Amino acid sequence: MEFETHCDTEAEAVVPKEPPKIYRLEESVVNRIAAGEVIQRPVSAVKELVENSLDAHSSSINVVVKDGGLKLIQVSDDGHGIRYDDLAILCERHTTSKLSTFEDLQSIKSMGFRGEALASMTYVAHVTVSTITKGQLHGYRVSYRDGVMEHEPKPCAAVKGTQIMVENLFYNMTARRKTLQNSANDFSNIEDLLKRFSIHHTNVNFSLRKHGASGADLHTVGTSSRLDAIRSVYGVSVARTLIKIETSDNNPSSSVFKMNGFISDSNYVAKKITMVLFINDRLVECTALKRAIEIVYAATLPKASKPFIYMSIILPPEHVDVNVHPTKREVSLLNQEVIIAKIQSVVESKLRNSNEAQTFQEQVVEPSPSGNIGIIKDSSFSSSPSGSKSQKVPVHKMVRTDSLDPAGRLHHYLQAKPRGPLENNPSLTAVRSSVRQRRNQKETADLTSIQELINEIDCNCHSGLLDVVRHCSYIGMADDVLALLQHDTHLYVANVVNLSKELMYQQVLRRFAHFNAIQLSDPAPLSELIMLALKEEDLDPECNENDDLIEKITEMNTELLKQKAELLEEYFGIHVDVHGNLSRIPVILDQYTPDMDRVPEFVLCLGNDVDWEDEKRCFQVISAALGNFYAMHPPMLPNPSGDGLQYYKKRKPIRNPEDIEDDVTIEDEMEHELLSEAETAWAQREWSIQHVLIPSMRLFFKPPASMATNGTFVQVASLEKLYKIFERC
Ligand code: ADP
Ligand code: MG
Repeated sequence: MEFETHCDTEAEAVVPKEPPKIYRLEESVVNRIAAGEVIQRPVSAVKELVENSLDAHSSSINVVVKDGGLKLIQVSDDGHGIRYDDLAILCERHTTSKLSTFEDLQSIKSMGFRGEALASMTYVAHVTVSTITKGQLHGYRVSYRDGVMEHEPKPCAAVKGTQIMVENLFYNMTARRKTLQNSANDFSNIEDLLKRFSIHHTNVNFSLRKHGASGADLHTVGTSSRLDAIRSVYGVSVARTLIKIETSDNNPSSSVFKMNGFISDSNYVAKKITMVLFINDRLVECTALKRAIEIVYAATLPKASKPFIYMSIILPPEHVDVNVHPTKREVSLLNQEVIIAKIQSVVESKLRNSNEAQTFQEQVVEPSPSGNIGIIKDSSFSSSPSGSKSQKVPVHKMVRTDSLDPAGRLHHYLQAKPRGPLENNPSLTAVRSSVRQRRNQKETADLTSIQELINEIDCNCHSGLLDVVRHCSYIGMADDVLALLQHDTHLYVANVVNLSKELMYQQVLRRFAHFNAIQLSDPAPLSELIMLALKEEDLDPECNENDDLIEKITEMNTELLKQKAELLEEYFGIHVDVHGNLSRIPVILDQYTPDMDRVPEFVLCLGNDVDWEDEKRCFQVISAALGNFYAMHPPMLPNPSGDGLQYYKKRKPIRNPEDIEDDVTIEDEMEHELLSEAETAWAQREWSIQHVLIPSMRLFFKPPASMATNGTFVQVASLEKLYKIFERC
């Protein structure tokens, strides 16, 4: 059958036809299409109903659900109810009590305003409303279908408020019903939704129950404390990791808002982020804000980078456009970027402070023989039996002082590696234990040396440039290495290679010993990498004497790096396996992988340039080598969008000078594969500059004073001056 239909259409397609006639859709069809948009799944119906109950000033909202909401959703509240006179038009489209003129939308405070939700439900389900208003002796019950009452409202017994029953959702949309039936049960989505509502509307009691079940799955009792509400809904384990956060701004030229909330600290470890966001008391999503917070976590607490966030933002209603999404889920804000940047910076400082506070908490604990008594720690921290610490050191460093306890060390977080035969090699074990001993003796030196390097960055920071990098916006690339940035009325060019090199260096020091890993798909033998790098440097590749030398250097360097493997892994996330293969490198900025063409040069630099005896120099040089490796150099292939395009034209020796025409056609042919590889590499780099480098620079970069004079940042124009010039013209 299908085959026949297919042939028919094909046959028709070749016959020229009149354009198809345009019909006006029947209103019921239009309504059903619109309804499908507003009510996408059972959870969207619950959201609309609960919002209506909240708009009706209810203090108790009870939800009953059957079959994930497909069979029944019943929401009962104790709000102000619906007038008898309004019942006739209640479920028609665009009937609402919350808005009358378009201008009202600018200052809307209620959650609903379109008058579409109830109407939509009646087009895709059977809706029954029972309601009573204040001062009435009895209530009314009435059922609706396709926007209209099925019968006159019937008197019924009622106490207070409204109960809305939605039965057989999507009964007339077979495809939707089938996909929903096959997909995971919506009950957990509904539960998640009510949890979110309940921690914001702490003065309202919420309950959720499966139809026929005796107990409720969720039951919240009004409380005045937000933290108590979160504790009772999300559990103690979440609540005890939370830090209070608030900020505000009242400067009409930049932003006007108030924000308060709770964010999790380093003890909250989850697979995905939970972000409960209310803007002007509406439960909404704001992808840009969520992403911005994720970036801060990934940078400051890499191991707890999927936080729990509750945040409530209040803005003047006229600054929020609530009407950008059919279900009012996404909103857009005036001055969104400024607000996000402000929130980002308080989150960052809270997280940094909390890290220090935890250190303090651990430090004041007296060591005890059992190692446990009196120690207030979360299980995610190691409880080191020999944990006697007397001086203030950052907490993440402390857990490493006991070499027997791997908690807190990078490889603890990576997949278990199979033990190779070499692992038991006595000489290797000896080397390792001597490395370990050496490090343990110098434990404090280790920490001070890193601290010193970080302090040097801070002391050397140029305050004027700091202001520029914090508050600039990216305009675009001026050429292969210079980016255009705007700050206030000034335009700057910034050398992205220098900039990224230094930023990576600073981040390596800040993330020291706390790296996530990038796994190489093919572990690369160190010896081959070093050999490759040496050959590239070799000026006279024809000379055989050099070959011997190269082999010697390669061998020595490989051996050296194998010996230093443990240090490289533990502190820098550079993993060299027992066979001398490089298999993992660290994540320095999230979402960024360095250009692998530069691995050989990097490995050679580790082997040749590092002074392994002087701790501080050693860390500094390794960090700088990583900085250079991860810097956003122009890709090796020339940029095809400029003069570099020449490079991709197929070249052929000119056989005879008269053969010009032939030669031209050959020149026009391109090395397509190479060209597309180059295009991808350049596009990827520009993406990384815009979306990784510049945002991270704004957050973390401390520009050294030298960058003000060495051409890394150059002010090229100031708008005021330009205006003056133009005025004269
Ligand atoms: P909107 O919320 O956008 O106004 P709805 O279709 O959700 O549109 O609701 C239509 C109207 O029905 C609301 O404006 C409100 O007056 C009334 N209403 C709906 N649910 C309730 C309820 N639980 N309690 C009181 N009034 C309600
Ligand atoms: Mg509504």
